[in-house]
Amino acid sequence: MNDALLEDAEQRFHDACEHAQLSVDAIERLQLPEMSLKVSIPVRMDDGTLRTFAGYRVRYDSTRGPAKGGIRFHPSVTAAEVTTLAFWMTFKTALMDLPFGGGKGGVAVDPKELSAAELERLTRGYTAAIADVIGPDLDVPAPDVATNELVMGWMVHEYAKITRRHQPAVITGKPRQLGGIAGRSSATSDGAFLVIRELRDRVLDDLDRPRAAIQGFGNAGAQLATLLAEDGWMVVAVGDSSATIVDPDGLDVAKVREHKDGTGSLAGCPVGEERERDAVLTTETDALIPAALEGAIHADNAGELQAKVVFEVANGPITAQADRILDDTGVEIVPDILVNAGGVTVSWFEWVANRQGDRWTAATVAERLEERMVTETHTVADLADERDLPLRTAAYVHALERLSGAMDATGTADLFANGG
Ligand code: NAD
Repeated sequence: MNDALLEDAEQRFHDACEHAQLSVDAIERLQLPEMSLKVSIPVRMDDGTLRTFAGYRVRYDSTRGPAKGGIRFHPSVTAAEVTTLAFWMTFKTALMDLPFGGGKGGVAVDPKELSAAELERLTRGYTAAIADVIGPDLDVPAPDVATNELVMGWMVHEYAKITRRHQPAVITGKPRQLGGIAGRSSATSDGAFLVIRELRDRVLDDLDRPRAAIQGFGNAGAQLATLLAEDGWMVVAVGDSSATIVDPDGLDVAKVREHKDGTGSLAGCPVGEERERDAVLTTETDALIPAALEGAIHADNAGELQAKVVFEVANGPITAQADRILDDTGVEIVPDILVNAGGVTVSWFEWVANRQGDRWTAATVAERLEERMVTETHTVADLADERDLPLRTAAYVHALERLSGAMDATGTADLFANGG
């Protein structure tokens, strides 16, 4: 999976390079991460034994600003996976014109096997191990898979103890009480909704009441289902790791969420009809919205999709092979680095507010988020039209040209071109 993810990222990078106006230096500088750290984290377990976990932090590029990217706690975390995700973050921050580069971190651990006290000791140990390579002006972590506000709270506290300074801007996605920002937990679904709203007529030919099927009914997927239903969409299917729930006339999303919140899963939902887990992907719909896993749409199932457009809320839900199949069958793809960029955008607001010693209101966050999402969505769509590119390639081209411009502005290429 990790190697496939890396290959897909490289493939998309090379596809975009063919269509972008880039300097040779920029392409060369993006070949390797700036910094890659692997650490060992010894943790005293509740039963008195000592276990050592592998942790990582990669700063892929910081030409445009401090690195930015989440921390994931998952058994599959490896150096290759973290590097690939840091590479993606470099494009996402450039695409949104945030003053950040790209980074990512993680610990190879199954957090479900740890007690809360063990998880806290692991998080504090990881923070101490990477403390030299993070900082408000250097590299700013955030939550990712299986990390949350609580984990960010431990990290910001541990960092303050190590540096003997109160530095809330070192981490985003913190609890409100420690400098977190209003609207962070809904930022990804709010941002995705804005992208969908702006592109709806373009990709769905002015349909009055489009249908949506959503894979993943967690933080991003469930909130987006509510926003779409409120906007008049028919949510015809939702799926999680237990089941798919279908109603071709549109589900009562509030009732489905009530069941999921109460039981922790979609299985046994009293509304709609229950199908097997992956049925959501092949449901007849206008828009398919993967909001669960990397690689959910692959060469073996891409041909069975019955959607006109895929909005990628998850990171990397479509493999490069599946991309080509969807392209052949005329399914449009709106790419992850645009659709799910609301999360990192609101993280930027949190970092800015922390540095100003300010508090932003929910209204300011919503207004600034809308401005960023709408502006960059239309820039990508216009670029796709001007250069006759798929939206994914256009998004990468736009990000790459921004990155290349910043790298070139550092001036070294000119110096050598002029003979030193
Ligand atoms: P989450 O953990 O809250 O929810 C994940 C959902 O996916 C759950 O409903 C889970 O049951 C479901 N799922 C897991 N395995 C599945 C399977 N095999 N088949 C079907 N469903 C399955 O996660 P989230 O925060 O909602 O994130 C979802 C995706 O969005 C991830 O890819 C994440 O990287 C991406 N994303 C999230 C954010 C954010 O701020 N939350 C930001 C950017 C990208």
